Amino acid sequence: MSERAAPFHCPYCGDEDLRPSEAGHGAWECHGCRRAFQLKFLGLLSPGGAHEQRD
Ligand SMILES: [Zn+2]
Repeated sequence: MSERAAPFHCPYCGDEDLRPSEAGHGAWECHGCRRAFQLKFLGLLSPGGAHEQRD
């Protein structure tokens, strides 16, 4: 599956100084703002592209 989902920019400050975190799978640390965050795969978009969820 998705071995690496490496972010190029910190989603919080936009810095590029990202390092893999030891906190867990998909976890990254930004050394620009010293935030730690985690990427999570949510799922695939529907073929139509639109989010249509009606219970
Ligand atoms: Zn940052």
